[in-house]
Amino acid sequence: MGSCACVDEWDDFKPGSLTMPALTQCWYTRTHVPAGRRHKEADGSYSGECRYCHKPITSWGKDGGWYLADGFNVSKLRDSTGGRYLYLLDVSDDIIVARYPIDHLDTPSKLRAYRDELRVAHGLDQPGSTLELRDSNQGAKLH
Ligand SMILES: [Zn+2]
Repeated sequence: MGSCACVDEWDDFKPGSLTMPALTQCWYTRTHVPAGRRHKEADGSYSGECRYCHKPITSWGKDGGWYLADGFNVSKLRDSTGGRYLYLLDVSDDIIVARYPIDHLDTPSKLRAYRDELRVAHGLDQPGSTLELRDSNQGAKLH
């Protein structure tokens, strides 16, 4: 029995919990936090499980963030210096569903044809699709 009823009321108030029960904290913040245990992998990375969404997550280096282990994180892509790829993203989840090397497509028209092929194959133009194709070189080319 607290002396102030307002405080009790406030404690029971959980914003969003009624309308969107499935969304975890990391859905909003894009920041995953490892639960207690984490394993050091042979390649120097760490793996663990997110305490909020309970998905497997992985991290590189001491100051690196934690990323979903079942996809490449979008912000990680900007650091990658490898070949050129088309990435198939699920924008609702920031997960890379697939990665297609396009280094062998040496003309813009071949690239366009390949993009169209992938768009159709994955139903990107279907209503409600959360998938998106991104070119790993796009940022550098457009800006
Ligand atoms: Zn999480």
